[in-house]
Amino acid sequence: MIPKIMAHGGAWEWDDALDTGKCTGLKEALSIGNEILQRGGAALDAVEQTVRSLENNPVFDAGTGGYLNQDGLVQLDALIIDGAVRDFGAVGGVTQVQNPITLARKIMEETPQCFFVGDGADKMAEKLGISLIPNEQLVTATMRDFYLAQRTDGPSDTVGAIAIDDQGNVAAATSTSGTPYKPAGRVGDSPIYGAGGYAENGIGTAGATGQGENIMRLLLSKYSCDKMAEGLTAVEAAKATMHYIDNIFDDSMAGVIVIDSNGNFGAAHTTPKLAFGWVDEQGEIQTAIKANF
Ligand code: ASP
Repeated sequence: MIPKIMAHGGAWEWDDALDTGKCTGLKEALSIGNEILQRGGAALDAVEQTVRSLENNPVFDAGTGGYLNQDGLVQLDALIIDGAVRDFGAVGGVTQVQNPITLARKIMEETPQCFFVGDGADKMAEKLGISLIPNEQLVTATMRDFYLAQRTDGPSDTVGAIAIDDQGNVAAATSTSGTPYKPAGRVGDSPIYGAGGYAENGIGTAGATGQGENIMRLLLSKYSCDKMAEGLTAVEAAKATMHYIDNIFDDSMAGVIVIDSNGNFGAAHTTPKLAFGWVDEQGEIQTAIKANF
């Protein structure tokens, strides 16, 4: 199986001036994940490392540079899925962890549980050997100003990665600070298994982004995988998923990236833009702001 990887940096409407930063960040992150896959590494490692790079990049609304909530804290959610063993790890509302995706993975692999939230998730991070950081360390000057202006109109820059490795194992990872100026405690689709991401060997993998309430109402990533299980290709499944959400909600504002079990890519969105990238047949990293597969 030729390994494949795809990543996104959010679906929404944003200023064209932001496009370059998003595409550069996606390229950097995908080169890390792709290198892992090219040397025979696991899809799970590739998506975790790709998302870590995106979390560490202040351009994106995940990890460092996330939006502050109404209490002035960067409150982070993440989800990782191992489609080979049908397992996941997730965190919601963590405030003292630099890379929530790695905490999610440790929860999946090193605890009998799947999902931790709030203070308990931060405490679990410490137990699992992850050093806690002050929340301030996640705050950038741009996001501080955004918070002080009480702005809720920011672009969605949630991040996600999906991959299939040379063994045919699929994995997905998603990380976010959620929507701008969210009420404290609000959690969107991103850490919800089947909503923000899904992966199942033999079927494929999907990652969703956009307005989280609608995405989780429909378990959108699972829907994409259900469509592939019915025989649709990645492109067809991505389009069908957007038709599905758009037919139900007037303001769906969603995007999805998809890889099927044959390694085909798909992406679609109901938003004006979806920042995403993939590695093509020639091994070149491609990025786009609108899907036209
Ligand atoms: N889906 C995320 C949320 O609602 C936001 C995003 O994708 O940017 O928390």
